[in-house]
Amino acid sequence: MTAGSPVWHPFTQHGLREPIPLIARGEGAVLHRADGGTLIDAISSWWVITHGHCEPRIAAAIAEQAGQLDQMIFAGYTHEPAERLARSLVRLVGERLTDGAPLSRVFYSDSGSTAVEVALKMALGYWHNRGEARHRILALEHSYHGDTIGTMSVGERGVFNRAYAPLLFDVEVIPFPHGDAIQPTLDALEAACRAPDVPAALIVEPLVLGAGGMLFYPALLLRRMAEICAHYGVLLIVDEVMTGWGRTGTLLACEQAGVTPDILCMAKGLTGGAVALAATLAREAIFEAHLSTDRAKMFFHSSSFTANPIACAAANANIAIWDSEDVISRIGAVGAAMDEGLARLSDRSVLENPRRIGAIAAVDLRAAANGYLSEVAPLLRAFFLDRGLLLRPLGNTIYVMPPYCTTRAQMGRIFDAIGDAADRFG
Ligand SMILES: *Cc1c(COP(=O)(O)O)cnc(C)c1O
Repeated sequence: MTAGSPVWHPFTQHGLREPIPLIARGEGAVLHRADGGTLIDAISSWWVITHGHCEPRIAAAIAEQAGQLDQMIFAGYTHEPAERLARSLVRLVGERLTDGAPLSRVFYSDSGSTAVEVALKMALGYWHNRGEARHRILALEHSYHGDTIGTMSVGERGVFNRAYAPLLFDVEVIPFPHGDAIQPTLDALEAACRAPDVPAALIVEPLVLGAGGMLFYPALLLRRMAEICAHYGVLLIVDEVMTGWGRTGTLLACEQAGVTPDILCMAKGLTGGAVALAATLAREAIFEAHLSTDRAKMFFHSSSFTANPIACAAANANIAIWDSEDVISRIGAVGAAMDEGLARLSDRSVLENPRRIGAIAAVDLRAAANGYLSEVAPLLRAFFLDRGLLLRPLGNTIYVMPPYCTTRAQMGRIFDAIGDAADRFG
């Protein structure tokens, strides 16, 4: 294994000395361990892999682009992979989100967190350049938008950001609904929009709050929130970093609500999950607020690897797959296998709140303590690892979000193990 390694891992308490498997190879839904064992990647390597590991066409596109143009400055220069990708993204999103002005501008960055930072800066820049002092951001309770200071500010506060709390900026939190009772959420949003200090923007994860515990909410709520924002002229930022590229059963979760946001963030599955790339799409009006002969009004954001050509080539290969194959029906098959699995767990009363949307399924294990630091989480992780499964419960919430190539037999193994875990730890 990795004794004596200098590597400091993310979201890892090294003091617990949990084993850190060495992975040598990925193929489809499977990771091959260096010691010869295999793991089913039941969480798509933290929600990024969509079609499967090392998808041959994406791998080939990466190899070809790496020999052609590897990296270049993107301020004042451009390249074909980025141009092609931007046109494709505008087309794909425009075909699906038809409510109001289209998302006609694409700004590249390199992670979900930066896609969200860019979205927030675009929204604030929009109001600033129009000469309106609007700085207040609204966010939904239990949200997660990333781990940088800005994205932590618009996310749920808790143990994971307590050390930095004094540096996080204030946001107004709109309560998450209980089940289908969406009115209190809408009332709170409307009150916040009506305040004399009108907010700049509302940021939400559409339909599913991922890191907050795979919490689902009705499409109607997203629709109504968008209507309230439009009514009060508050910009709507939708963070599709996790939900995008098919996870909820449609390419974008927004589609299911018939909502076109003002700004849309994507990352994770944009390259099929093979390499890091993010895009923030904006309505023309947001771009126009930055359009001037005055250099002080330009959008002041860049990262070294903005629109990296290799990453753009991977994303173009991903889109070619979406364009030429019925990815949605593959996701449907994964969802059907999940329903079978959930049905087989229905006699375990310790597994509560079974739920599924698209290719995401979750259950909550009734345990003594819940929350992110629930003691049961590391025990579950070790139990699943032992069973040849990469699963990483969020506290006592066990969720499955595998690549779309996962077979019914593999899904069967995943849900059998969840049943056994419930018997052991519930
Ligand atoms: C993962 C995630 C992010 C952050 O993306 P990174 O690429 O990890 O920075 C932002 N928003 C949502 C909804 C996410 O799930």
